[in-house]
Amino acid sequence: MSDAPNASPGSHAKPILKGSCFCGNVSFAISAPPILSAYCHCTNCQRLNACPFIHTMHFAASAFTWMHDDTPELCLDSFVLPEKPHKQRWRCKTCGSCVASYNKNTDRWSVWGCQLERNEDGTIKDWDIAKPTVHMFYGTRVLDISDGLGKWEGYENQSAKLS
Ligand SMILES: [Zn+2]
Ligand SMILES: [Zn+2]
Repeated sequence: MSDAPNASPGSHAKPILKGSCFCGNVSFAISAPPILSAYCHCTNCQRLNACPFIHTMHFAASAFTWMHDDTPELCLDSFVLPEKPHKQRWRCKTCGSCVASYNKNTDRWSVWGCQLERNEDGTIKDWDIAKPTVHMFYGTRVLDISDGLGKWEGYENQSAKLS
């Protein structure tokens, strides 16, 4: 069912981040820092999540591992948009939340910051590793954000800097 590599459970180095879907039936671990951690204001993220913007993180494929089962795909549904055949998104069969996606072109997995493990007070664990460093696709924002992070038209350093 999946041709995504490096997603077999327990086959990787010690995780530095962990996360799960809403119900917890599906979980993953990450063994290397993010290549990118950003607030994304693109219209795809907005429409796929019905959300003004999301916290996305990209990881090298070798850093991502499913943790919930010996046959992870049994608990997951996958989706591929015809106009983006290189990108496969994975959704928990029980609660329906989208938990990760794999991009064949870049050989990266993406997850969302809000699905990372939490501390007892509800804050995200290991925030220093996970926290966004930038706002991207800010040109299509539906909400102005006044924080200290850079705001880019598209990807950081590959598009116009807006502020
Ligand atoms: Zn679930
Ligand atoms: Zn986006």
